[in-house]
This record gives sequence, C-alpha cells and structure tokens, in this order.
Amino acid sequence: MTHYDIDSIRADFPILKTKVNGHPLVYLDNGATTQKPQSVINAITDYYTQINSNVHRGVHHLSQLATDAYEVTRKKISEFINAAHDYEVILTSGTTHSINLVANSYGKQFVREGDEIVISAMEHHSNIVPWQMICEDRGAKLRVIPINDEGELDMEAYAAMLNERVKLVSITYVSNTLGTLNPIKEVIKQAHDQDIPVLIDGAQAIQHLDVDVQALDVDFFAFSGHKMYGPTGVGVLYGKEKWLDRMPPYQGGGDMIKEVRFEKTIYNELPFKFEAGTPNIEAGICLGTAIDYIKTTGINQIALYETELLKYATKALSEIDQIRFIGTAKEKSSVISFLVNGAHPYDVGVILDKLGVAVRTGHHCTQPLMERFDIPGTVRASIAMYNTKEDIDLLVNAVKKAASMLL
Ligand code: PMP
Repeated sequence: MTHYDIDSIRADFPILKTKVNGHPLVYLDNGATTQKPQSVINAITDYYTQINSNVHRGVHHLSQLATDAYEVTRKKISEFINAAHDYEVILTSGTTHSINLVANSYGKQFVREGDEIVISAMEHHSNIVPWQMICEDRGAKLRVIPINDEGELDMEAYAAMLNERVKLVSITYVSNTLGTLNPIKEVIKQAHDQDIPVLIDGAQAIQHLDVDVQALDVDFFAFSGHKMYGPTGVGVLYGKEKWLDRMPPYQGGGDMIKEVRFEKTIYNELPFKFEAGTPNIEAGICLGTAIDYIKTTGINQIALYETELLKYATKALSEIDQIRFIGTAKEKSSVISFLVNGAHPYDVGVILDKLGVAVRTGHHCTQPLMERFDIPGTVRASIAMYNTKEDIDLLVNAVKKAASMLL
C-alpha cells in the first residue's frame, strides 16, 4: 500500500478537532452519516454566495451556472460508478427516496397479483417497508432470504426462491448493522439467469468500495450523499436505461414534463422524467465536490486502509472478555456491532459518549434482524477514511470502562 496520509486527511475535516465532554471526539458513527471535508463545506458557501439560482429553467446567467454545476455532478457520479450513460443517474434525496421510486414506479408497471419480491433478512427498513407497501397494493408477496448465525446470506435458500413469479430482488451490498459484505455479483447473476432484475442498496458500500455498475451488471443501485462525505438531502438512483425507459414517472410536477395540456401531459426524457420539482441544488452540486474529495485519495486506497482498520478493531475488541460480536461474516466492511454481555447497548453508548466516543446504539433501522438474533439492539462502531488506530484504542478503553461500571 502506498502512503496513506491520514494526518492530512484528518486535517481536512474541521469537526474532528471537536472536544466532547472534555475528551477529543472519536467519531465512529459513520454508518449513520459521515463528516464533511472543508472543500465540501466551502462549496456550500460558494454556491450560495456565487451562483444560487434554480436549475433547468432560466436563460439568465446564474441559472445557467447553477444548471451547469448541477449537471457536472451528474457526470461525476456517472463516472464514479461507471454508468454507461449520464442519463441513467437520477438525483434523489437519498437511498430511501431512490428505493421508494423503484418500488412505486417499477412496482406499478411490473408487479401483479401473485408475484413476488425477494429481499433479505438483513435489510434496512428503507429496503423493507417500500416493498411491503407495494406488495400490499399489488397483492404480491414479500419473500425473505434467511441468513446464518454469522450474518451471511443463505445462498442455497436464495437459489430456491427464484422463479417466474419473482419480479425483483432487492438486497443490500453491505449490511449497516452486521457489516456483512454480500456476494452481490453472484446474487445478480443468479437472478439474471431467470431474467429477474436486481436492485442493490449501496448506502453502506459506495464510500468504502469501488462500485462499477456495468461490471456488476446491476439493474438499480441506490445510495446517499451524506454517507460519502457529501451533504444531506441528496442521493442517487442508478438505473439501466432499459428499465428506466419502461417505467412511469414516480412524482408529477415541474421539470419532469415536456408538455402539459389539460387533456394529456407528455413526460420529459431521462433522467428528468424522474426528477419532479426543484431539487436540492446546493447538495447536488456539493456531492460532486465530495466525489472529487474521495478521488484525491482514491476509493481503492480508502478500502485497503479501512479493511486494515476493521481487522485491527475486531482483534482489539475481541480481547475484551464480555464482548459478543453480532455479525461475524467472512467478508465484512467498515461496521462492527457488538454487545457487552449483561449490559444494555444504550447504557454502553451513554458511557462511551461521556468519554467522547460517538457510536450508534439500538436496532439501526433493522428490527427484523434484531428479532433474528433475539437481541434488543447492538452497539455499532462504523469506520470512515479518517478514523485511526488511536480512535480504536480509545473505543476499546471506553468499552472496558463501560463493562467495569455496568457489570
Ligand atoms: N440502507 C442502508 C443499508 C442504510 O444504512 C441506510 C442509512 N442508515 C439507508 C438505506 C437509508 O439511507 P437514507 O436515510 O440516507 O435514505
């Protein structure tokens, strides 16, 4: 691995200098949202001080600047995920919006009574509830791929579930609760063997792994800007042209139309057909800045660094007697969930916070997964490109202290 300049990376994130309860901040809640580099923060100010205007509408100077900057982001995203066409990149408000878009639009067009949608036992509520809603609406059935005790997909059960009634498979690339890195290439291949399209929830993957939608041959890929060092309120739905073309608009309004008459409206072309109303322009533009930021280090370098850190953290935490890991898959990325035996995760989280360590506690929007493991929740440490071994050491010391206080 070439030199990974962690000091200069950390210096780019002003919030990391914060003190919490008199302790240096150890931010390990990156699965919930990542911190923002100065370049992204500056880009937000620059947008409002220099080019604020609505997009795709005005002929005036500022509107053209804003539109150009917004469309440059689409291009950057398209290159970042290696889409075949920029118009296959739909800008949404985040992963949740992206999945709801597919559930509603694809669902209305292609899902009929008696059909099935396949998800997995480790999905985030965002990749469960939209499918439940559309299944209820269409009279279709939601089927769930089981997982083993390590938190890995049961691929045999998956293969057995695929048949002509299945209209879509929708699973996560990386589990936000277990850290499991799913074999999505195999998942996609098996579905495609039976002409079933696949949506991948990339919310916990895009900031950690090199994603190439063409190499994956994925039909839909969803992610959020705020988990990849960009602003909140913007996200992406990548969709293959062949599907997006055949899907009806999800929402009606400005921008998604070519011509409106009371008798009949003609919809706009891709990607605008799926982008009704004024978008979050500032967030969209600054997501482009976040992608530039990731590219200065390189996603492959980040992946190598984070994998090493994950190994270090897993080993260090495993030396604590009372620890029980939830999610011990062979292939993992960026997330460690655990319990301190005998202590409620919330109590552990509160003590960690007193020591400056920010983790997430609870069900992590995966309640069915908590039921599968018969636990109320976990303590989750999730890492990002700016975390260090020192952060992990401070986490481990804080967990030891919590264990000594609570048990
Ligand atoms: N899927 C996964 C795997 C997630 O981790 C999250 C966020 N925790 C979401 C979907 C939803 O993302 P957002 O809230 O940004 O729409």
